[in-house]
Amino acid sequence: MEKDYQLIILGGGPAGLAAGIYSARNKLDSLLIEKAMVGGLAVYADLIENYPGFPDGIGGLELGELMLRQAEKFGLKTLTAEVTGLDLADSRKTVRTRESDLTARALIIALGSERINLDVPGEKEFVGRGVSYCATCDAAFFQEKEVAVVGGGNSAISEALHLAKFAAKVNIIHRRNQLRATPLFADKAKSDPRINFIWNTTVDAIEGNDNVEKLRLVDVLTGQKSTLPVSGVFVSIGQRPNTVLVKGKVPLDANGYIITNEKMETGLPGVLAAGDIRSNSIRQTISAAGDGATAAIYADRYLGA
Ligand SMILES: Cc1cc2nc3c(=O)[nH]c(=O)nc-3n(C[C@H](O)[C@H](O)[C@H](O)COP(=O)(O)OP(=O)(O)OC[C@H]3O[C@@H](n4cnc5c(N)ncnc54)[C@H](O)[C@@H]3O)c2cc1C
Repeated sequence: MEKDYQLIILGGGPAGLAAGIYSARNKLDSLLIEKAMVGGLAVYADLIENYPGFPDGIGGLELGELMLRQAEKFGLKTLTAEVTGLDLADSRKTVRTRESDLTARALIIALGSERINLDVPGEKEFVGRGVSYCATCDAAFFQEKEVAVVGGGNSAISEALHLAKFAAKVNIIHRRNQLRATPLFADKAKSDPRINFIWNTTVDAIEGNDNVEKLRLVDVLTGQKSTLPVSGVFVSIGQRPNTVLVKGKVPLDANGYIITNEKMETGLPGVLAAGDIRSNSIRQTISAAGDGATAAIYADRYLGA
């Protein structure tokens, strides 16, 4: 395999793939490196209903495959490998994998983020069948049903407020007796008649047959167990950006996400970032793809300058 490129794209989710389509179509000698399945987090979405151009929705896996086909048609090269190290100090950047070192004048970092899971029985089994990590994506499937949101931060409250527009009742299950969310946001949730709070409580198990039917709960103060019948549970206990490799090398925000300007530039010449890994990303397929396109265009301008 060739070792030197104009542009290397790290990560094969929607951000990396969109960057790949734009850069390959602009005739940049580009390589995309992905450690797992191309398509990124979106492959876990059974049906994506809010990506433009698919009025009947599209499976995340299929969307990823279509994006890859489109990028490869324009000449994007791909490599299945885990990126294990980055040297960003020189004008030619080095990307290390277990097998080889590769170099490029420009990099687009699109390594996404990882959600923090509840890690309780039933969680994995019911993903896409009542367990969700994204109310923007899945709230519409729970019209007039009873659901739960697990968490107490701004994301959890935002998920609950969005769900309350669809569901008959939204139970916020929080392990403490007060929210971590900002007071203005918390007050909005407390005054919403469709939102109910279950304090000092954790989820012990998620149960059902074909789909989620109930949650097993534990009161953390008394140890008392109870059951909550729900059709869906939205886990919102945090995300972890995949920024271990760039810590101390590019500016990160307080939560560890990469800070960029509107051109997706990180401040380090030739190093751009796109998608869910970016500070203040709305963490959607469309925003990731948009970021990827923007990053590829500004990487092209950097390389042509
Ligand atoms: C269950 C589920 C349902 C969703 N439903 C929707 C929906 O309906 N609509 C919507 O708009 N969005 C949805 N999303 C969100 C959407 O999937 C993400 O916003 C989007 O995938 C982010 O794209 P990204 O390219 O920034 O990151 P990711 O998709 O996370 O891609 C990052 C890629 O980088 C790779 N990677 C990480 N570390 C390394 C490494 N060291 N070396 C090599 N590769 C690496 C990962 O394997 C991954 O493929 C959903 C997410 C989930 C989990």
